[in-house]
Amino acid sequence: MSEPTEHEETRPNPLDRRGFFRGAAALTVGGFGVAAEVAQPEAQTRAAPEIADAAERLEEQTQSALRWIGRDPADWVKARAGVDHNVVIVGGGQSGLSIGYGLRRKGVGRVTVIDRASPGEAGIWRSIARMHQLRTPKTLAGPELGNAALSFRAFYETLHGTAAFDALDRIPRTDWADYLDWFQRATGSMVRYRTRLIEIEPQGDLLRLHLESDGVRRTETARKVVLANGYAGAGGPNVPEFIRALPPDVWTHTTGNIPFEALAGKVVGVVGAGSSAFDAAAVALENGAAEVHLFSRRPYIDYPAPPSPQPAPAPDRGYPNVSELAYELPDGVRWRNFLLGDRRVASVPLDSIERAVAFDGFHIHLNSSLSDVARTADGKVTGKVGNNMFRFDHLIAATGYRIDLAAQPELARIHDAIALWGDRYKPGAGEENAAGAAHPYLGAGFEFLPRGKEGGEYLRNVHCFNLAAALSYGVPVGDVPSTVDHPRLVTAIARDFYREGVDAAAHERFINAPLTAPSAAPYERAVAKREAA
Ligand SMILES: Cc1cc2nc3c(=O)[nH]c(=O)nc-3n(C[C@H](O)[C@H](O)[C@H](O)COP(=O)(O)OP(=O)(O)OC[C@H]3O[C@@H](n4cnc5c(N)ncnc54)[C@H](O)[C@@H]3O)c2cc1C
Repeated sequence: MSEPTEHEETRPNPLDRRGFFRGAAALTVGGFGVAAEVAQPEAQTRAAPEIADAAERLEEQTQSALRWIGRDPADWVKARAGVDHNVVIVGGGQSGLSIGYGLRRKGVGRVTVIDRASPGEAGIWRSIARMHQLRTPKTLAGPELGNAALSFRAFYETLHGTAAFDALDRIPRTDWADYLDWFQRATGSMVRYRTRLIEIEPQGDLLRLHLESDGVRRTETARKVVLANGYAGAGGPNVPEFIRALPPDVWTHTTGNIPFEALAGKVVGVVGAGSSAFDAAAVALENGAAEVHLFSRRPYIDYPAPPSPQPAPAPDRGYPNVSELAYELPDGVRWRNFLLGDRRVASVPLDSIERAVAFDGFHIHLNSSLSDVARTADGKVTGKVGNNMFRFDHLIAATGYRIDLAAQPELARIHDAIALWGDRYKPGAGEENAAGAAHPYLGAGFEFLPRGKEGGEYLRNVHCFNLAAALSYGVPVGDVPSTVDHPRLVTAIARDFYREGVDAAAHERFINAPLTAPSAAPYERAVAKREAA
């Protein structure tokens, strides 16, 4: 997709047929990326002409769908002097694309989406996501905002058939990545790539954004900013101090570029026992690692086991179509939901466990925290669990993400003013949780709220659609299940512009203007004549 220089107006382009077929070709290639070991469904091993036919069918169907929903509404947002954009969306991953599309369909113009990544590299699905299949169910609603013709299911079934969709266990990761590329093309969503937000500088209620675009610094002014900047967008990766203290060449966090090819024949340590830990372990083993040792502090690995006679779930849980209502729950319920998530971590899909366990060189160490970790003179890493000594060629930190607004460079000038859960909610005895207290206490449109007297005028214009919103909104924000929240965010932004656009004097002039009757010509001959008095 070409990168616009003047970018405020984004409207759906008709699908570029050649680009579309390039996309269709990628569908076959995509299936053989990291997931090469997985048996491909028959649908993905079909002959090229058959795939081209399917791609053409999808294009026709998409064109019809776009015709049926009609043109984008006109931009109704009243222009404001000295402003470059009504909204800047930071992040062109699945969240940023869908929210941008939603704003356009609401008639909110002068919206621009920026992403620091190069075209084709935004989001996580072809980089740090290493699993074969999405972890979430295949039938969840996605970025299509209720338009079924733009859903993953419509995309996949039209290309591969309904039986192929039915046969899926969950959505193959590379198909999801292909789908998002297609969604972007189908909706004509433009992204300014290689454009990084460096810092937000408040100016009254406006936001002066310091950007770096292809290495060149610039500033642009926005009325609103949406932080759709991903899991690491509110504090970065969580790296335990004992790993951070090591030289950077002997360890990598799972968000980084793990040197898998260099790990052939080597001994690898993985710290952490969540899904990303198992995925990284499996890829290391598939790349020929001799041994992978995974260290879990817990006495068991959590995975979705078959239902057991546990108490029925609380009424606020397990109903994905109303999960956006979780924001309406009392603070105490939201807090305890967070504690529950914190206690369980994320359960690991069974297939991710099986993928690693299939290798003889894979070893899980339960109840095990590495201590005395150090780099040796010959470039190895040593560490102990009890009396057992380990020696690794490389350490992988599968230790998740942290929420720490003070550590997010883009927020350097404003984080002090932002209200956190620790400021607004006092948990009961035994329910304290430092990680929870560090989450921002967000408003009903994902906006930051002020901690005290400072910042109220501009914080309401910074909308936080990333993992930091998880406590306020009850789901890991950015995940597919959180897409039900996109309309809530879009409506909140539109509401603010709508209210601000009210001009009482102009309204009064309009209401009080004398009405002029149109010509009576179309009905004149039927007008009954009244007898003269
Ligand atoms: C390994 C992994 C596996 C996951 N698996 C699943 C799953 O199976 N199911 C599920 O529902 N969820 C899953 N998630 C959670 C979530 O769905 C993904 O993280 C998803 O990519 C979130 O989409 P997003 O658009 O919010 O953020 P991202 O896809 O992370 O996109 C954020 C974008 O913001 C850009 N960006 C960041 N900072 C800046 C800046 N300062 N300036 C400009 N651009 C910036 C980045 O370049 C990036 O392209 C997974 C997450 C991870 C990390």
